[in-house]
Amino acid sequence: MAERDSGAARSASASQWLSPDGAVMTPPGARTPLLVVFSGPSGVGKTTVTNELVRQGWSGHIVVTATTRRPRPGEVDGVHYHFRTQHEFQQMLEHGELLEHAEVHGNWYGVPATPVREKLAQGTDVLLTIDTQGARTVRARTQGAIFVFLAPRSLDELVERLNIRGTDTPEQRTLRMLNAEREMAELQHYDYVIVNQQDRLTDSIEQLRAILCAEHCRVNSQRPTV
Ligand code: ADP
Ligand code: 5GP
Repeated sequence: MAERDSGAARSASASQWLSPDGAVMTPPGARTPLLVVFSGPSGVGKTTVTNELVRQGWSGHIVVTATTRRPRPGEVDGVHYHFRTQHEFQQMLEHGELLEHAEVHGNWYGVPATPVREKLAQGTDVLLTIDTQGARTVRARTQGAIFVFLAPRSLDELVERLNIRGTDTPEQRTLRMLNAEREMAELQHYDYVIVNQQDRLTDSIEQLRAILCAEHCRVNSQRPTV
């Protein structure tokens, strides 16, 4: 007796599954890597959240981006950023090495494309901590990325965090706060928002982990194309 069709049938290549109507599905158990764009105004806690995510054993890759900004005390070239001169940054641009680039708070920043492509090809999740302009470019140039916005509960809380961090001059802080309002207006274009409430860092990390978990459980997950 012929076996009854239980729903999804394996295709000839065995690398894909077809639903009864012929749509391609991810085989149960197969893992599609995520491309996560993580944005939010300066000082909201993006670095703190992602550092903690890694410390808790997240197996994904956080891309080290390039910048013309001067290193802050304690920042290491190749670890926190690839610190580059204006000329070196321009060379990277001319050689087509950057997936996107933008001027943020008076300095240039850009995402090296090669590590993003390599990690995704290996099946590793990739997270880009970039500003909202960069997010727009990634949205236009890639497919299948997930956009997560980290928001403060109020702009007052943001000022407080920038002051406590103490890494920026008063002029830089003013510029970052001016840009924060513009960045907050971009929130509507993101898939998820996490409010990083004062002294509730654990909640933010739990929410980010929940988002990553839910995205990995999608039935028809789309492999990001970069
Ligand atoms: P970003 O990377 O978004 O610019 P940081 O991660 O450098 O921001 O965080 C800015 C400051 O805010 C740091 O001093 C950090 O310790 C602090 N911070 C981050 N999250 C919280 C939170 N939930 N409550 C209180 N302080 C926080
Ligand atoms: P900071 O100078 O505080 O480290 O970063 C300033 C802003 O630049 C942050 O919003 C950060 O996410 C963003 N940023 C860091 N790297 C990149 C990048 O490669 N591209 C873009 N567009 N923004 C970036």
